[in-house]
Parts: sequence; structure tokens; C-alpha cells
Amino acid sequence: MSRRPNETEHKTTCCYCGVGCGIVLTDKGNGALHVRGDETHPSSKGMLCSKGMNLHYTAMDDSDRLLYPQMRMNRSMPMQRVSWENALDRTARIFNRLIGQYGPDSVGFYISGQCLTEEYYVINKLMKGFVGSNNIDTNSRLCMSSAVVGYKMTLGEDSVPVSYEDLDIADCFFVAGSNAAWAHPVIWRRMEANKQRNPEVKIIVVDPRRTQTASVADLHLPLRPGTDVTLYLALARILIENGWIDRDFIHDHTEGFDTFREAAFRRTVAEAADACGLPEEDLRLAARYIHASRGFMTLWTMGLNQSVIGVNKNVSLIALNLLTGRIGKPGNGPFSLTGQPNAMGGREVGGLANLLPAHRDLGNAGHRAEIERFWQAPVPINPNPGLTATEMVDALLDGRMKAIWIVCTNPMVSLPDSDRVARALQKARLVVVQDVSSRSDTLAYADIVLPAATWLEKEGTMTNSERRITHLPKVLDPPGEARADAEIILDFAGRMGWGEAFSYESPADIYAEHVKTTAGTECDISGLSYAILKERRSIQWPFRNGEGTPRLFTDHRFPTPGGRARLVGVPDENTSEPLSPDYPLILTTGRIRDQWHTMTRSGKVNKLLQHISEPFLDIHPDDAAERGITEGTVVVVSGRRGQVRAKARITDEVRPGVCFLPMHFGKIGGDVLNRTNNLTNPLFDPKSKEPDFKFTAVEVVRYVKP
Ligand code: SF4
Repeated sequence: MSRRPNETEHKTTCCYCGVGCGIVLTDKGNGALHVRGDETHPSSKGMLCSKGMNLHYTAMDDSDRLLYPQMRMNRSMPMQRVSWENALDRTARIFNRLIGQYGPDSVGFYISGQCLTEEYYVINKLMKGFVGSNNIDTNSRLCMSSAVVGYKMTLGEDSVPVSYEDLDIADCFFVAGSNAAWAHPVIWRRMEANKQRNPEVKIIVVDPRRTQTASVADLHLPLRPGTDVTLYLALARILIENGWIDRDFIHDHTEGFDTFREAAFRRTVAEAADACGLPEEDLRLAARYIHASRGFMTLWTMGLNQSVIGVNKNVSLIALNLLTGRIGKPGNGPFSLTGQPNAMGGREVGGLANLLPAHRDLGNAGHRAEIERFWQAPVPINPNPGLTATEMVDALLDGRMKAIWIVCTNPMVSLPDSDRVARALQKARLVVVQDVSSRSDTLAYADIVLPAATWLEKEGTMTNSERRITHLPKVLDPPGEARADAEIILDFAGRMGWGEAFSYESPADIYAEHVKTTAGTECDISGLSYAILKERRSIQWPFRNGEGTPRLFTDHRFPTPGGRARLVGVPDENTSEPLSPDYPLILTTGRIRDQWHTMTRSGKVNKLLQHISEPFLDIHPDDAAERGITEGTVVVVSGRRGQVRAKARITDEVRPGVCFLPMHFGKIGGDVLNRTNNLTNPLFDPKSKEPDFKFTAVEVVRYVKP
């Protein structure tokens, strides 16, 4: 294999977001690749967004690639090229020493929803079954962990019950905290196409900003940030008061209605509308749209999940589907859109600090025993959850954790409170960074750098937002000495003395072991061999009787002890950091259309920089006028932890009192003052441990050159 594909055409999957669009790569015969949407892929039917259409630029441009292992003996020295043997031997020596001296929880892995399922599987097995620590977490913690807990609390399991084909037939979409038109464009196009075919389709968008998605909605509810639970409870109250609920479904298939009703009736609708900053008539109109529909889907993502009350927002929103019995039927159901391409696969193998393979729970002694036996683990699995993403930062700072191995993610830009992250990495005794690109800001803090293969350069599987597992073939050889992530981990495991348990010959071997763990579980794919998956290319779990499963809970039986879904009444107070006279504005953050995460890949594609090329602050005209800020003024946004500098865009797309910064920009190619997470705070939801990115208290002033 070479740096040119060895066949004329390859079918694979886009590596950016959780939509998981099918891609056909064609070798144009001159060393260049052509990308087009795969018309046969059921998730995307030939569609791609701007990021997907430009993937070939990132695939063939090696200019920023990490090509060789590097390390430095101390942080005052420069990095030096070393052999793989040197780099991994030193890592193993330090891991062994720290584990022996301070215990297994002194080390940890922080990995990524970009990793393939097989990579997740082996890192999880290594940490939980062999090192003896649950300190393995992923940047998916930053995007969907509130939805995981929300699904478990209400439906009894972490399962997206719907399929994309439901988007083609629903006639009322309730889109909350999601700018799907920019962040999940292919899903959005399916909804738009449905509306074009059927003008009766209603789209309700809940977002403090008038995003691209909100701008085409039939009803936009620009609520005050943090009042989502109040809104959903008020809608529930209107549905209940008007008798627009499915009493039979509630009676036969749910529990907790009385307690939920009490929560919904704590405020009058007028009081709730006032708290949300919305007209009462708009709440009543939204409820009418829901009632009048035959297919009602709730869709949400980071606007709900990235909150200190993210789980409460999830369970209150899912309650709207349960009250109306709109689940388990075509065109109906609650749909959490995942951010990353393989956030779902990571959940399936238990690659988070509180999970075990196949959605088993760490806290369940029976589940732990099953997996210990299956792995023939030399140490018992620790029953206590490991450190989650932001907790790892705390543990590095206070010395509980001493070594961190970061795989395929850039926490210096993506974790909240960047200064705190920098101090934590500086304090660590060992920072290993395994990545593909020299554009990661986190590399500046590494002691050991391991060059990894990217997307087309390795084989394995991913699962997209509709539970669809797809096989990804290896198309190119990695450049230089870069290696597939799983191969690096297996090599390391061997050097730690566990070679036999990690002696897989290929990704197919790892997959075969992973699917065995799913036997008898809700995500059962034990009958889905690698050969069948490769032949069919993609299948939705669970795989039973030779077929995938497009829709869950069609019998209205839920995997809870009583077989019923749960209506959960929660408090509606927001517990984000308070506003104050010094910091009177609410900062919210989010994506722009053409960039992905911290721009280590999408930022090097010129075409993708044409849309928006520099950071900006959206601020309402009233707030701008009060501060003497005009269009294009360079402003400093200050908060309790740091500052960001950006050009102001004066727009009524944000509410008065709310401002917005895109999340992507970091130091590489810019300025440390571009980094939005200089401002955000490390508060997190107590149940999901997902950080509170969407609510930061700030002030904005004109920038004055020193
Ligand atoms: Fe890729 Fe997501 Fe765009 Fe599809 S919608 S092409 S998966 S970035």
C-alpha cells in the first residue's frame, strides 16, 4: 500500500461528525483523490456537507503530519526523534513505576470520539481490566454524556430509539439546543426535504440565538439560557391541561406521572413564559403543533447537553415524547444527535469512566464479574467510577493523577478553563500525546509524542447517531512511521507484560472479541460477523435474526425493572455560575458551519476558511450600544478565569444580555487570546459530568492597544 489508493474506488464514512455520511473516494490517477457522497449509504443517500466534500484535502495533505515518535527527557529540552521502541519502553517504564508507587489511579487515558470502536475497546480493556483503573474518559464526555444519563433515567438504557428514516416522515420537529443546519447538515437536509414535500410539517426551534436552523423554523423560541427545563415543563403542563396526552400509553407503559405532573404544575404557564423570556402564546402554539402532529420528534444536542443541568434538560424534554406516547412508532421519538463520528461506538464498548462493555454498568457487581471473566483480567475491576474529562484536570493539579495519555484530542483548546488545563498538564509527571497533526496546541505540553494514522490509513468500525455501525477500510498507508492507534496500544500492552491478552492479529480480531461482549444485551451484535458487516457495509444495532433494527421500543416495553419508561420530574433552577455587576452578560458557545472542533484538520483547508476565517463575538445591538461597540470593533471578553479577544458582530440574532463565541479557534495559527475556553468554567452536571459550556458570566469592552 502507498500514499496513493491502490484501487480506483473506495467506500468509507466521513470522519467528522456523528451523522456518519457514506463517502466514495476515487483515485483520479494523478495522486489526487476525489470525494463524492455515496448514493447507496442509507444514512446520507449521496449527500455530504462542506466539510465532507473537502475531506480529500485533509487526507492527502501531509504537511502537518506527525511522522516519527519524539520525546524529551525534561521540559527544558527540545523534542527529539526517537524509535518506537524507545518511546513505548519509556512510557511503559514510567507507567509501571507510577502504578507501583502510587496505585493504578495515578495514570489515565483521555481519548476521543474520533477513535474507532476497536481502538476504544483495547484502551478500555487495558485500563479497566489490566492496569486496574477506570481512569479512561473521552472527549465525548463534552458532547453527549448528559444524553446518555437522560436516556437511562427515562428509557432504561442508553439507546437512540429512532432512525434517520423517521426524519423523512415526522410532521413536527422540536429542535432544542441544536443548530442542525450547520452542525448536522445532512440530517437537517432530510428534515427540510420532508417539509418541502409536506408544507404541513412544523419545525419548532428552541435556541437563545436565531441560528440558520431557527431562521427557517415555523416557531422560534429564543429562551433565556438556562431556562430549558422551565420551558419543557410548561409545555407538559399545557399538554396535560388540554388533555393532549396519551392516557393509555402513560397508564400502560410509564411510571412517575404524578410526581412529574407536580413538577410541571409548580409554575403557571404565564410564570414559566416570563422566566423563559418568551410570549405565553408561543408556548401554547408549540403545544398545539405537537398535539396536531402524527409524527413528533424531539431532537437535541450540545445546547442541552453541555450544561450544569444537562441531565434535567434531557429528562424533561424526553418526557414530552412519553406524555404523548410518541415513541416506538414511525416518525416519532426522542433523538439525541451525537457530535462525534464514533461517540456511539465508544459508548458501546464502555469507553468512558463509568461504563463497561455493551452498556454494562461499572457499579453493577454482576456486570463487573462478567467482564472480568471474559477478559481474564488479572486484577478485579474497580467498582468506583474513574475520573472524567474535567476531573482528570483536577486530579493532575492536586497530584492524585501523575501521568496522562491523550489520544486524538486537543484538550488545550477543547476543555473548559484553558489556563487550568495548561497548569494541570505542566504539573503532570508524564504527558503522552498520540495524534496525527502537529497543529494540536496540546503538543506543547507533551513529554512523548506518538504519531498516529488517520481515518483512511487504518481499518475498523464506527457507529453513527442512528446506531448504524459502518466498516471503514484502510485505503492508504500512513506517512512516515505513523501507526494505527490500536497497533500502538497493543504494542504498549505487550511492553507492560500483557502481550498474550492483547495479541490480536488485526482489527477484525478485536471486533470479534468486542461483539462477543454484546451477546444478550440491548446492543447485541454477537451475530454480526466482520464478514457480514463488510459485505453489507452498515447495519443498525441490535442485530437479531440476521437483520439490523431501525427502531427501538416498538412493543412499548422498556428495559427498566418494571418494563415501563419513567417520567422524571426535576427542579427547574439553573445552577450555572452567577451573573454579577462585573460580569453581567451570558456567554454561550457553539460551532460554525465549516469548521470541526479545534480546526486541526478543517483549519488547513482553504475552502473551509472562506466562510468564516477568524473568531468573532456576536453581541446584541442594545448591549453593544451600551458599551460603545460598533460593527467590527475589536473587543475583549472577560470572565472570572480569563479573556478572549475577537471582532464584534452586532446582531439581533442573539438575545439582549447574551453573547456568542465560536468554540473552534485556538492558539495554532492565531493567538492564545482567540481561545474561547479561556473563559468557560469547569462546573459540570453532577450526574453526567458534562461541562457547562453554554453559560459563562462575562463582560465585553472595547480593546485598547497597550
Ligand atoms: Fe461529514 Fe457530518 Fe458533513 Fe456528513 S454531515 S459530510 S458526516 S461532517
